[in-house]
Amino acid sequence: MIKKITDNIAYIPASEGPLSADIGLVMGNRRIYVFDTGNGDAAYKELKDFLDSCPEKEAVCILSHFHEDHTANFARFDYSKIYVSPHTNRYIKIGEPLTSPLTIEDGVSITVFPLPSSHAKGCLGMTAEGCAFLGDATYPAEVNNEEVYNKGLLQEELEVLKELPVKSFLLSHKPRFIYPAKVVIRELESVYGRRLPNEQYIKV
Ligand SMILES: [Zn+2]
Repeated sequence: MIKKITDNIAYIPASEGPLSADIGLVMGNRRIYVFDTGNGDAAYKELKDFLDSCPEKEAVCILSHFHEDHTANFARFDYSKIYVSPHTNRYIKIGEPLTSPLTIEDGVSITVFPLPSSHAKGCLGMTAEGCAFLGDATYPAEVNNEEVYNKGLLQEELEVLKELPVKSFLLSHKPRFIYPAKVVIRELESVYGRRLPNEQYIKV
């Protein structure tokens, strides 16, 4: 079921079995911007029905990172343009690699930007109408069965997140999906505050 967030922003919620990430949808005047494409037949059908209901609009795809639950359905759609990070581009061998923020004006103002992350190499985020789609970028990585943040990447990520002109962060797989940006930043700062001088990783 598609859930509306603002006038021009909606999403298809994440699911499990198979694991499929939330799919962000931004309605521009001429195009629909799809942030992550999900995984499995149920997510595919929901997105297909939605795109079929707006045949006059082209679809543009933005992939948050290369993990399968965000990208597996990607090849089942025809996108007029695809934005990825250089790392995702090497992985799925398609899309325009972004190395700096890109703003698109299409009735709504959309900015796609690189986002340093402990969770996965090569993450992108996207802002529109006071919201930032962050995919899994604010989550830790799993190293030797432990959840950890990389100290340097977390510092860089916090610098980017604090500059975003938004009130809400949209966090994939999380039960509420929409969280106050301030609260998420405060939590990540508290993790960063637990760093140790000679350790590269911060355990959580
Ligand atoms: Zn994910």
